[in-house]
Amino acid sequence: MDISERPLSLGVFCGFASGPSARYAEAATALGAGLAARGHRLVYGAGGVGLMGAVARGASAGGAPILGVIPEFLRAKEMGDDLPPQEIVLTDDLLERKRVMIDRSDAFIALPGGYGTLDEVLEVVSMAALGQDVGPIVLLDVDDDWRSLIEYVEELGRRGFVRDASILRLAATPEQALDMVAPAGALAGAAPGGRVMS
Ligand code: AMP
Repeated sequence: MDISERPLSLGVFCGFASGPSARYAEAATALGAGLAARGHRLVYGAGGVGLMGAVARGASAGGAPILGVIPEFLRAKEMGDDLPPQEIVLTDDLLERKRVMIDRSDAFIALPGGYGTLDEVLEVVSMAALGQDVGPIVLLDVDDDWRSLIEYVEELGRRGFVRDASILRLAATPEQALDMVAPAGALAGAAPGGRVMS
C-alpha cells in the first residue's frame, strides 16, 4: 500500500489507572472513537483496564485497527479480561515496548497518567528536541492535568536548560488533539517514512 493511503498510526500514552472521575474514561473512550472515525490506527500499551482499556474499547467500537505492545511480564496484570481484539506485540521489557511503540507510530497523544506515561512522553519529547522526526506530540487535558509539566518545561526554557519549550502542545478535547496531530488532508502529504508534516 502506498504510504499516503495507509492509516495514520497514532501512539496513545495514558494511565493504567482510571483517574479521579468518570470524565477521564469518557475522554479516553472519545479519543479512541474519534481516531477510529478518522480512519487512524491505535498503537498503545495493550492494556485492558484503566484509561488504556477505555481508549482501546472506544477505538475498537469504531472499527479501528489496534496494535498493542506489552512486555511479557505485564500480560497478566495489564491486559485484564476485557481486552478488545488487537494485534499484539510481546516485548522483553519496558524499554523495548517503548521503542516498538515509538517506531510504529506517526504521531502521539498523551492522556493523563503516572510514571509510565510521563516516561513515554519525555522519551518522545527528548527525541524531538534532538531533531529526530517522531511526529507531533500532543498532551490531552481532562482537568488541567498537564499544566504543571508545561509550566516546569517553560521555566527550564527561561533558565536555558530547554531550547524549545514549544514541542509539547496542549489540547483541551479529544477532537482538538486529533486535529493537532493530523489536520484534515495532512495524510495526502505524508513524508517518506509515513510521518505527517506539521
Ligand atoms: P502509568 O502512567 O504509570 O499508569 O503507566 C502507563 C503504562 O506505562 C503502563 O502500561 C505501564 O506498565 C507502562 N510503563 C511504566 N513504566 C514504563 C516505562 N519505563 N516504559 C514503557 N512503559 C512503561
